[in-house]
Amino acid sequence: MVQKGPRPLVLCGPSGSGKSTLLKRLLKEFPDKFGFSVSHTTRNPRPGEKDGVHYHFTTKEEMSAAIGRGEFIENATFSGNMYGTSKQAVNDVQCSGRICVLDIEIEGVKQVKKTDLNPLLVFVMPPSIEELERRLRARNTEEEEALKKRLDTARKEILFGQEPGNFHIIILNDNLDKAYSELRDFISQNMEEKERETTCPCPSPGPCPNETRGSE
Ligand code: ADP
Ligand code: 5GP
Repeated sequence: MVQKGPRPLVLCGPSGSGKSTLLKRLLKEFPDKFGFSVSHTTRNPRPGEKDGVHYHFTTKEEMSAAIGRGEFIENATFSGNMYGTSKQAVNDVQCSGRICVLDIEIEGVKQVKKTDLNPLLVFVMPPSIEELERRLRARNTEEEEALKKRLDTARKEILFGQEPGNFHIIILNDNLDKAYSELRDFISQNMEEKERETTCPCPSPGPCPNETRGSE
């Protein structure tokens, strides 16, 4: 079947810039419209993170083998851990008739741009490195060394995010309500109803819950 699912949405930005917070709000407000692409990672779960919900937590060996079998759309190493989007993760969301939302770092964005997913690309920008550090410290999810690594990476990510042509929109997250409303406006301006009504790309045999969507 031709790959023709709804156009996915990618959120990218430095760790601590507010991607998860914005995503959580979007998924809460529109649970039937958007679905989260659950990535795989080799990092340890944070308190409260559930396997299969926030991430599929896995090992380097298992993930490397799955990548070798061609099961991933993209993958990258970030701050010493592997992260990746499986084909299954995107299919699961698209087959439910929802718009797939990916939260991925810049190497993953570069790879996804080379596929036929044709996503809308959003870069979430922190107000400053200093504020980013304050937010990361307040989140209190990383050890000192990991936090420093993330801040170092953030500088490079901000440069990439600002380069013309890399993203469709840069959303400055200085104020959460403002940033969220910019995200909503961007989505509604760029995702027409007709675009969402597309054929399910489900490659698996058997009935698909999205079977009838988009059939004219
Ligand atoms: P990311 O997913 O990009 O790593 P998070 O969504 O976890 O970032 O946000 C990092 C921290 O910053 C969280 O503790 C979150 O509550 C906080 N945060 C997010 N947006 C804002 C904002 N506009 N102002 C202040 N704090 C924020
Ligand atoms: P965290 O450990 O804070 O959850 O995520 C660290 C970084 O990994 C973030 O920039 C996040 O966007 C990115 N990330 C999460 N999942 C994926 C993925 O599947 N692929 C890629 N390339 N990056 C991911």
